[in-house]
Amino acid sequence: MSAVKKQHVLVIGVDGCRYDSLVAADTPVLDALASRGFLAPVRVDERNPTISGPVWSTVASGVYSDRHLIRDNRLEGHRLDRYPDFLSRVRELVPGASTFAAAAWGPLVTPAAGGPVFAPGGYRPAFPADSEDGELDTIALMDEAVTSRVARRLLRDAPTVTFAYLLLVDMVGHHEGVTPRYRAAIEGCDEQIGVMLAAIDSRPGRDEEEWTVIVVTDHGHRDAGHHGGDSDEERTAWICAAGPGITRGDGVDHADIHPHVLSVLGVEVEPSWELEGSAMN
Ligand SMILES: [Zn+2]
Repeated sequence: MSAVKKQHVLVIGVDGCRYDSLVAADTPVLDALASRGFLAPVRVDERNPTISGPVWSTVASGVYSDRHLIRDNRLEGHRLDRYPDFLSRVRELVPGASTFAAAAWGPLVTPAAGGPVFAPGGYRPAFPADSEDGELDTIALMDEAVTSRVARRLLRDAPTVTFAYLLLVDMVGHHEGVTPRYRAAIEGCDEQIGVMLAAIDSRPGRDEEEWTVIVVTDHGHRDAGHHGGDSDEERTAWICAAGPGITRGDGVDHADIHPHVLSVLGVEVEPSWELEGSAMN
């Protein structure tokens, strides 16, 4: 006889991380996650440009830019009221559920640029030196703050669903392209993911819980940096995930994350939601 375990989900967004760069980097945390589930390349759907705003909005809402109407990093005029993010759906449909989001990029969790993508909002670290000067150092500190805040929340009160987002990899790509520093940013990101997962595994009562962990990037980068075009380097994203019921990596898509989160929590998808994807099992 075994009690029904409480389900939790952690979705970690890593912005602008090329698939080939990820595979080449030393990432023991993601390797271990993949060994319990999968790591798979994801072709950014043709309805989305290879830009953060549209693709993160697809991760959140489960529909593409033809429906959520976000075509770039200005979110004004979006239809996320009609196609809400998975944190909002969980709070509405799962009794007693709690959610938490944290990101350095404002439009995901604050009203910046017409946001937030995640309507419940969330934590965005800010620093006095939050300016163009020394921007990479600032972003690195913001990612550390996001990691720390998320790890503390996971350890202490384990929200039902958490969204955490790390920005430095993409910013290094913009500053100098796919360089040794870009690889180092990926490896640092893997360590930050490790801190979040260690917090989960340190929880009192961990044995009574089941955790789904989904790590995802939105797009790649050109060799010299930047994205938004249709090259394979820009269009090839990836998902790495493990958790109860996760069996498939082949053919997974950004739009599968929203229905997967709902599926883990026992929420049945309504046809009227017009979701494009399906659970990853
Ligand atoms: Zn970018």
